[in-house]
Amino acid sequence: MNKGTQYITPSDVIQYLYCPRFIYFMHVLNIDQHEHRRYLVNKGRDMHVLKLVRNKDYLRKKIGVIDKLSDVYLSSDTNCLVGKMDEVLFLEDGSAAPLDYKYAFWDDRVHKTHIYQQCLYCILIEENFDVASHKAFIVYIRSKNHLETLSIGEKLKKNAMRMVDEIFNIINLGLFPDVKINLRKCEDCTYRNICVT
Ligand code: SF4
Repeated sequence: MNKGTQYITPSDVIQYLYCPRFIYFMHVLNIDQHEHRRYLVNKGRDMHVLKLVRNKDYLRKKIGVIDKLSDVYLSSDTNCLVGKMDEVLFLEDGSAAPLDYKYAFWDDRVHKTHIYQQCLYCILIEENFDVASHKAFIVYIRSKNHLETLSIGEKLKKNAMRMVDEIFNIINLGLFPDVKINLRKCEDCTYRNICVT
């Protein structure tokens, strides 16, 4: 895999999961899109709410937290990944886990995009802190701070890294991806006027 000098963020993987062609339009043709801006606006709101709900000194002892870091920016030169997580929790079993606050309701399922986002955070934590990271936590602010625990296994990590490889292939080789996509997604898509579907 030729990764070049570019770094991939979890939000790139979220875009890829929606449609791999987003990567082509955003990173090969450099055409921005409204969804991306909307994501940034939502993230801004998340950060505002985060300041209100979070106690930086509070350790969640019920889930085995013995220490934590807040607002952690991590990068991996090996995997060409970067990511910023709300908290990194150090657990009593010697492992560590990311914790993210979402300005969202808990609706009895964790979205696939959030699972892969947390999975990439676990990969970053393992590389930067040299500890195992096989779980992640999400706090759903709009459901009374419901705390959900995610299990992050090796298979999921492999899938996430396969996606990162595919993203680099699109960027470095300038490949226009073949996609099989639900046409309803295309109807809502910013790129529908320039995309050959
Ligand atoms: S129009 Fe459809 S295929 Fe093209 S980028 Fe958008 S979602 Fe993907």
